Amino acid sequence: QETTIPATFQGFGVDKPENWNKPKLVEYKRKIVNPHDVVVKNIACGLCGSDILTLKADWSPLLRNDAVVGHEIIGHVIAIGDKVTQVKIGDRVGIGAASNSCRDCSRCTHDNEQYCADGAGTYNSVDAAAEDYITQGGYSSHSIANEQFVFPIPEAMETVHAAPLMCAGLTVYSPLVRNLGTDAKGKTVGIIGIGGLGHLALQFANALGANVVAFSRTSSKKEQALKLGAHEFIATAEEKDWKKKYADHFDLILNCASGIDGLVLDNYLQVLKVDKKFVSVGLPPTKDNIQVSPHTFLHQGASFGSSLLGSKTEALQMLELATAKGVKPWVEEIQIGEDGCHEALTRCDKGDIRYRFVFTGFDKAFTA
Ligand code: NDP
Ligand code: ZN
Ligand code: ZN
Repeated sequence: QETTIPATFQGFGVDKPENWNKPKLVEYKRKIVNPHDVVVKNIACGLCGSDILTLKADWSPLLRNDAVVGHEIIGHVIAIGDKVTQVKIGDRVGIGAASNSCRDCSRCTHDNEQYCADGAGTYNSVDAAAEDYITQGGYSSHSIANEQFVFPIPEAMETVHAAPLMCAGLTVYSPLVRNLGTDAKGKTVGIIGIGGLGHLALQFANALGANVVAFSRTSSKKEQALKLGAHEFIATAEEKDWKKKYADHFDLILNCASGIDGLVLDNYLQVLKVDKKFVSVGLPPTKDNIQVSPHTFLHQGASFGSSLLGSKTEALQMLELATAKGVKPWVEEIQIGEDGCHEALTRCDKGDIRYRFVFTGFDKAFTA
């Protein structure tokens, strides 16, 4: 089987943070294939906000000078390790933002493999189980991931709609069901930041039966947010006193914003019901911190939390719910290539996308 896998993969990589929106065609040695690994020939990849933050080195330095990002990958399985049981050659599958873990610790064995201390991210991450390979993402010809991080795609789902669910969809689904359960009727959830993650959070929260309130900085996305499943919309930069109107209102507030402009955490904590949580999946640059007063927490017994991706079990449930309820990312398809990567990264960084870029046309871009 090894013979069917090219020794080198091709991708669109960045050499240094100053060139974050100018990926160039690169060829690199691939990761080794372990017994539980799946090799995928990529056919589509979404552009996540994390791709931009990573390439700009807003979180941590770039670990390679040909760094390929992309972790909303869809492709076909072309080879599998000896011990793989969960997928077979030819299957259409997806890979999200995590691609390996020890599979043995208590987190790995209790549906929290995305929190494994020895886990590897899909890009710009050290894979301890693969000779410390620095992982490469899905703006590329092929991907390799442990089968636990490889999700079968329901047949009825289109590839371009499946891609954004691999990271954005799963990342919002997990905290929604962990905090509200799978039946959220009668519960009210607030979603902050209506981008790739946020527009899926509106849809999933609505699909779970919740009453949904969208928070966006301006009113420009109001009409679309209501179409996406929000019941109410608040433009935080325009409606200054929304806090009064929403006292004792929310069972959960999920922050999906990629930055902290205008984010007054005290306000959000003050509109929670008692014992409820504000959960941030949004990950601003590491230099940006959120301020909060302990007095704010006190009066609601509120909690501030975080959430990282989701488990495979949750990914499969999410795909099922998306199929059943018609949850569909709003996508703009774009040809993968140096030009396409440049355009999509630049426009997403400016907020000029409703709501997810998905790269396609991989056959045209890669010869391998
Ligand atoms: P997008 O760029 O698609 O959307 C981000 C949204 O955040 C925008 O639409 C905007 O919403 C708001 N926003 C943008 N810039 C700012 C700013 N400077 N200050 C405040 N708000 C801003 O990104 P994604 O949806 O792909 O990703 C969102 C965040 O989630 C990123 O930080 C990403 O790294 C993180 N993430 C975290 C994961 C996890 O496991 N925790 C997994 C995946 C992503 P609006 O116009 O409505 O205000
Ligand atoms: Zn992501
Ligand atoms: Zn583990």
